[in-house]
Amino acid sequence: MTTTSDTATATAGDRADRVPFFPPDLFHEDREVLLRLLYEIGTGADQKFILGDRTRRFEDALRERLGAADAVACSSGTSALHLVLTALGIGPGDEVVVPALGCAPLAAAVLHTGAVPVFGDVDPATLTLDPADAETRITPRTKALMPAHMFSVMADMPRFTALAAARGLRLVEDSAVAQGAVLDGTPAGLWGDAGLYSFVQVKSFGMPGEGGLVVTRDEETGRRVRMLRNHGQDGVQRGLHHTIGVNSRFDEIQAAFQLHRLPGLDARLARRAEIAAHYTEHLTGLPGLTTPPPGTEGRCHYVYTLLADDRDALRDHLSAVGVDTHVYYPRTLPEQTAFTPFATPGADWPHARDAARRQLSLPVHHRLTDAQVEHVTATVRAHARRARR
Ligand SMILES: *Cc1c(COP(=O)(O)O)cnc(C)c1O
Repeated sequence: MTTTSDTATATAGDRADRVPFFPPDLFHEDREVLLRLLYEIGTGADQKFILGDRTRRFEDALRERLGAADAVACSSGTSALHLVLTALGIGPGDEVVVPALGCAPLAAAVLHTGAVPVFGDVDPATLTLDPADAETRITPRTKALMPAHMFSVMADMPRFTALAAARGLRLVEDSAVAQGAVLDGTPAGLWGDAGLYSFVQVKSFGMPGEGGLVVTRDEETGRRVRMLRNHGQDGVQRGLHHTIGVNSRFDEIQAAFQLHRLPGLDARLARRAEIAAHYTEHLTGLPGLTTPPPGTEGRCHYVYTLLADDRDALRDHLSAVGVDTHVYYPRTLPEQTAFTPFATPGADWPHARDAARRQLSLPVHHRLTDAQVEHVTATVRAHARRARR
């Protein structure tokens, strides 16, 4: 059975027979605006399609919203990571400590600078890089620490800040999916030297295309990232290349669309948080299941991830009743063929390995109806009770 965009809205509260992991009707309400912007920008007299006024206004809006010194829109979250590492001077001969559990760009962005990722284990409760473990991985070559906020809870940024300061290291925050999270009054992305967001469709502030944003409290880092994203030019005079850059420019149609969607972002994030709180309230304490720690400090709800002892059986059970789920990182990064050659021989990451085996993410997007959320909740509860017998 397929859920069309119309039925997803029309059946709110009365039919919950299929629960898609990602919303099938993400930009449904904004379709007319998108078409208008496409026409307006496509036929505009200035024919400005990248890095124009709209990109600048979008950057300014996010910079002000966050209280950052600079916000630089670029071509993707992955590119943002690479731009940040390059701007901080990380390159051949350097090591960067990254979590052993996480997305490929964490390791690949480091390798693309010529540096080497050193994998640290994750905290078993938050599934983010464990500061104590990360400290044991520091060597004389270590140049930076790069924790990532991947599931609901931000990494322990106060401890990473202290560790980076004590050891004279750069601190980069992969906050690609942590939009909206605030810890001790500081938004995700602004704890270290720089952070970033991803705007690819499925992310919390996704858009119909690819894009990302570097955020920083340091104007000089922002200036360097701006140059790097457009072939090393300074934005004042074209044709002069001050450093070796890349093409990581941002699209004007997307910038205009994101400006249009920005006022609704908080409500969409709040809906995700509400669904996550419902899951945690009703799924905590069930046998064989671990839910994310409750609370609101430093929380983001791009995904809602359980740890289940019988993960595959739970997944099959949910699938049989029409609930789509996702396993984000089925293997640790050092176990991925691409990155094994760079993993420290003999090192182990037991918590990352355990989480890779047990994690299961439930749908948590803002388009879910209450009935769909209840259907997911009831199915997980029924499975846990059945498994106990
Ligand atoms: C999605 C993601 C990225 C990469 O962002 P893209 O825009 O897809 O390149 C980086 N880090 C994390 C934790 C992500 O979830």
